[in-house]
Amino acid sequence: MSKTLAYAAQSPDTPLALLEIQRREVGPDDVAIDILYCGVCHSDLHTARNEWKNTLYPSVPGHEIVGTVTAIGRNVKHFKVGDIAGVGCMVDSCQHCSPCAEGIEQYCENGFTGTYNGPVFGGENTLGGYSSSIVVNQKFVLHIRHKDNLAAVAPLLCAGITTYSPLRQWKVGPGQKVGIVGLGGLGHMGVKIAAAMGAYVVLFTTSPNKREDALRLGAAEVVVSKNPQEMAAHANSFDFILNTVAAPHDLNQFLNLLKLDATMTLVGAPDSPHPSPNVFGLIFKRRRIAGSLIGGIAETQEMLDFCAEHNIVSDIEMIPMQSINQAYERMLKSDVKYRFVIDMATLKQSA
Ligand code: NAP
Ligand code: ZN
Repeated sequence: MSKTLAYAAQSPDTPLALLEIQRREVGPDDVAIDILYCGVCHSDLHTARNEWKNTLYPSVPGHEIVGTVTAIGRNVKHFKVGDIAGVGCMVDSCQHCSPCAEGIEQYCENGFTGTYNGPVFGGENTLGGYSSSIVVNQKFVLHIRHKDNLAAVAPLLCAGITTYSPLRQWKVGPGQKVGIVGLGGLGHMGVKIAAAMGAYVVLFTTSPNKREDALRLGAAEVVVSKNPQEMAAHANSFDFILNTVAAPHDLNQFLNLLKLDATMTLVGAPDSPHPSPNVFGLIFKRRRIAGSLIGGIAETQEMLDFCAEHNIVSDIEMIPMQSINQAYERMLKSDVKYRFVIDMATLKQSA
């Protein structure tokens, strides 16, 4: 076991604070990583504050990890000491059920193990990336091919894959009109990736002051979703909508914009349900509502390589570890452009 510094929540309503934790010895299949940067996902906040009612404490959030490999086990062939590596939302899965065999470990029938908060169906806690180091099975470690701007690569490990995976699943590409709802961490990656896939991207926001940014990030049009006239102009016209909103809201206003047979996929995970959508809006156009969870390890590597090739990183605001509680408050006000990333070198200043 080795000691490492971390920031942890001890209960739903205590601020995150310094905690010394233990990492396991490097086993034959393990990669040890010194964490350089960790992105701040809204899921971190949902978990730290027990909004999904399943948090194990102490809770060390963080699942957008980029760092340097410091040790490898004897079976590890594809990483070496000194490599830059990434870790996303998962650190293990059963490896034998049919989704695992297909490489979609996020749908593991026995429950993947989250980078934090342990196995999804319950079990021993795991402690995430708001820490100096982590030890992870090589199967769940990603290669980073970006040459620089590594802090801005970190959010690809969750925000990037959570938007890339449904965009691929629903075969988004040239000639399609695609909506992205919410310009936060996930949404801004969705805009960049869908635009790079060749789609005509329309960004829906509740924040009129994000209009210029959305256009710069790759949206062809921006719609303020609180404005009924702007919304009505797009009725029945979308091939696909990806909804990243982190709070319950009226889904009908977006469902009405889908064409016949088109789908809106929800990736936002609010702590209480959306109001039930109008069934007539669905049945008269055979519209579909779907969900999507992060992405498998192979697809995460594909996304990282796609982003490296297309020069895509996240738009970030770097923060010291000590500012995490203020960052959470700003995230709740949609005051993030567009992902906070923690500079993990600052963690030792709290020691
Ligand atoms: P975020 O940075 O806080 O962005 C969420 C955006 O939603 C905000 O920037 C805002 O955009 C919009 N929004 C917030 N409150 C709203 C409201 N009341 N009504 C309408 N729009 C609102 O969060 P994130 O990190 O992107 O995460 C988004 C959600 O996805 C969270 O619930 C998170 O837990 C979840 N998530 C799911 C997966 C998955 O695998 N499915 C993975 C990661 C995260 P505008 O200002 O543009 O309106
Ligand atoms: Zn996340």
